[in-house]
Amino acid sequence: MTNHSKNLPKTDVLSGIQPTGNLHLGNLFGAITNWVDLQNRYKCAFCVVDYHALTTVPDAQELKANTESIVIDLLACGIDPNRSILFVQSDVPEHLELYWIFASLTRYGELARMTQFKEKGGNRETVGLGVLNYPVLQAADILLYGASKVPVGEDQLQHLELTREILRRFNKTHGFLFEEVQALTTKVPRILDLKNPSAKMSKSHPEGAVFIDDEEGIVRKKVKKAVTDTGDDQQEMSPSIENLMGLLHACNQDQYNLMLDAYNSQNLRYGDLKVSLGNELCEYLKPIRESKNEWLQKKEEVREILFEGAKKASSIARPRVEIARKLVGLG
Ligand code: ATP
Ligand code: MG
Repeated sequence: MTNHSKNLPKTDVLSGIQPTGNLHLGNLFGAITNWVDLQNRYKCAFCVVDYHALTTVPDAQELKANTESIVIDLLACGIDPNRSILFVQSDVPEHLELYWIFASLTRYGELARMTQFKEKGGNRETVGLGVLNYPVLQAADILLYGASKVPVGEDQLQHLELTREILRRFNKTHGFLFEEVQALTTKVPRILDLKNPSAKMSKSHPEGAVFIDDEEGIVRKKVKKAVTDTGDDQQEMSPSIENLMGLLHACNQDQYNLMLDAYNSQNLRYGDLKVSLGNELCEYLKPIRESKNEWLQKKEEVREILFEGAKKASSIARPRVEIARKLVGLG
């Protein structure tokens, strides 16, 4: 079978984040730390997925402000526009072109089964079509760049599985164009909501999330108020404590080891764990917050970065879409 992807420009890594609110610890430790790290080894592209967010942010001013703010958050966390392509999804309309081609290969049942769809109102008559189709557009986001590595949190693994299904179906039906993709998760792939440890921390539920630009006092307060177990059943670490321990591990391994020793000898006081975690999070977030303040003074430079990012992204996306169009019989 002819390999149509041969010689096409590509990136190794592609990942995205929605401009639906501020960056929280789940985004940071579940995905972004990996993004920053992967820049040292691979050609990466990172995308603020505003088409996706259109389904949940109906206010134009808010969407625009969120998009700018998430870009600045990513720069503050260490995404380096000199090494990686940083761009806004809607600046590259090829995403929608490939999306529709993929939508015609995807079945309603496959989308209706997705956990995220169910969690975001899938059982309601009024649920937006965009919420249902989210994973189809996500498949286009990734495959448009020929990326084989996709650093995401655990909540996105099911969508990645569907991306694989879609690309295999395309290759089989129309000819080989899309390489296999692989998810890359961090050591803490699922950070839980501090108020509701049965759910993941999420931008859509700000009550249980710690945001990277929360004031230090707020960070400590939120951690202090995190739900824990009663401490009665010491057989196994409960999800809520495991969550706090995971966050501590992501910030400072020495402190984590101290707390783990205390836990193992049944001497861990949850109050002490919370104080330690509050302190370590503040330490960890300090340079990010400082960098964010600097980027906020350089809005013109940020606009330039996004302009260049979109140009580079388009130059990779366009040739692959052209071939996809030919293979399915368009144009
Ligand atoms: P929304 O509530 O609008 O869906 P979100 O908080 O889920 O927002 P996304 O923009 O959907 O954030 O996801 C961006 C990245 O962050 C994805 O790779 C996702 O897997 C990861 N991520 C989101 N929440 C968590 C979490 N609680 N733990 C680990 N990773 C997460
Ligand atoms: Mg999400």
